[in-house]
Amino acid sequence: MIQVMNLSHAFKIGKRGNEKSIPVLKDIDFRVKQGEIVSIVGKSGSGKSTFLHVLAGFMVPQKGKVLINGTETSTFKEAESAAFRLENYGFIFQNFQLMPRLNAFENIELPLKLQGIDRVKRHEKVKALMKETGLDNVADHYPNELSGGQQQRVGIARALITNPPIIFADEPTGSLDSETEQDVLLLIQSLNQTHGITFVIITHDEEVAHIANRMYTMHDGQLTEGSDQRAI
Ligand code: ADP
Ligand code: MG
Repeated sequence: MIQVMNLSHAFKIGKRGNEKSIPVLKDIDFRVKQGEIVSIVGKSGSGKSTFLHVLAGFMVPQKGKVLINGTETSTFKEAESAAFRLENYGFIFQNFQLMPRLNAFENIELPLKLQGIDRVKRHEKVKALMKETGLDNVADHYPNELSGGQQQRVGIARALITNPPIIFADEPTGSLDSETEQDVLLLIQSLNQTHGITFVIITHDEEVAHIANRMYTMHDGQLTEGSDQRAI
């Protein structure tokens, strides 16, 4: 489903004429099969978020390929990338990234609006999903009226609402206490099982990594399969 080959990327920093190139991703190979939960563990600064940005098409890599179900996404132009993302990916963020002026219902509804789905269908879908994710009693609450765990449930429901085959999660439990973290992990596992959604989860937390079927370790821009003590 996801195939990454010989991927490398360096950031250019400094003033023009005096630029320095900082290699951040170094010859990465990575594969995810449909229906898997795969985790990527690594220390802060090891390149995890940069890798996720390349995977999801927010950044074009300097070298290498990303294939999603056989389609090469790493050469997409910006507009193609945005359209592909909306159809194929959901995103879950550490800091939830909810719209503060929209209530829980409206936050979850937003991707369907972007897809041009009509109001009746949107409402039907959002209601059903809020029920499934245990949010039906907070539909009219604004983000600042929700607990961290509830905000992340809204974030997860928003990622799911378009039925994407793949969800990318960058430190999904990084802002939650350990009890709420368990709740959110159980929700991710159950969604993986009931909807067959493929998850790629970035984390520095071993507990989170353990819900995965497979684990990769990012160390200084290099990705290896399995656990690597240098990264923990
Ligand atoms: P992680 O998510 O594992 O903490 P990141 O992918 O965010 O790591 O960052 C990896 C490295 O790349 C860090 O050294 C960071 O400073 C650098 N970096 C990230 N984004 C940029 C950028 N836009 N320009 C220059 N350097 C960057
Ligand atoms: Mg990061």
